[in-house]
Amino acid sequence: MSILVQNITKNYGNQKALNDVSFEISSGEIVGFLGPNGAGKSTMMKILTTYISQNSGSVNVYGFDTLQNPIDVKKSVGYLPEHNPLYTELYVKEYLQFHANIHHTSNNRIDEIINLIGLKPEKNKKISQLSKGFKQRVGLAAALLHNPEVLILDEPTTGLDPNQLSEIRNLIKEIGKTKTVLLSTHIMQEVEAKCDRVIIINKGKIVADKNLKELLENQEQIIEVEFDLNVDIELLNKIPNIKSVKNVFDNTWYLTFDNKKDMRSKVFDFAQENGLKTLQLQQKTNSLENLFQTLTN
Ligand code: ADP
Ligand code: MG
Repeated sequence: MSILVQNITKNYGNQKALNDVSFEISSGEIVGFLGPNGAGKSTMMKILTTYISQNSGSVNVYGFDTLQNPIDVKKSVGYLPEHNPLYTELYVKEYLQFHANIHHTSNNRIDEIINLIGLKPEKNKKISQLSKGFKQRVGLAAALLHNPEVLILDEPTTGLDPNQLSEIRNLIKEIGKTKTVLLSTHIMQEVEAKCDRVIIINKGKIVADKNLKELLENQEQIIEVEFDLNVDIELLNKIPNIKSVKNVFDNTWYLTFDNKKDMRSKVFDFAQENGLKTLQLQQKTNSLENLFQTLTN
């Protein structure tokens, strides 16, 4: 077991940020930690990395208790905090040197990590001169310098443009092949693209802990359809095998079916039979999004 969280409660004054949170993560897993803003993700991560302590419960990381052996936990964990705090007046190499000194890692390792993270073209620049994507790489490099077993990444892709996003995503996926990774995000696609498992937290409580493959296999079928005219919801509810109907905007609807067979042709037939024109028709695979909305709304 790489991470073992048992009955963690954390209060900030009167406010309960975490309420009896428990979960386990095995070695080598990549787990997405999903929840709306204010759910308690960063608080949990700060406890996992020993930056703050809980009011009750226990956390064990790579065999070490966070309260009893915080130094050993820090040695085992690489942490990229939310908003990636960097010393932007330092040069990339200076900054990594600073981190290497903290962890007593060798200078060779700095060059090694610069190559691994794809920082070579920017390695002689000041951090303030770097794009957001490269700044994120510097944060990741610092977290990985001491070659930790466990990586804790707090919203590592928030604020990146689509190109930077896919680069950082791929990098994390690559790193994740040899490490245990817990990454927080409020972006569903992030989890679908990278993770083996998803833990969803809402208002300080864990509301779901699911294997992504199982989740995607058991998903319902959702069809997004746009008609040219307004339709009565009662009429839509008569489409065969329909489970639920939701109006997205104007004449666009989400139709949920409880069977696996592609129902697009049935929706098309329905439109024809009722004198409607179909302007748009597509199958959506957003079971995670549905789960998230149901559990955190
Ligand atoms: P998330 O990372 O999921 O957005 P946080 O863990 O940052 O959530 O916050 C959880 C809750 O705890 C929020 O309601 C937040 O306002 C509160 N909180 C976080 N840090 C502090 C703090 N240092 N002092 C007081 N309240 C805090
Ligand atoms: Mg946060």
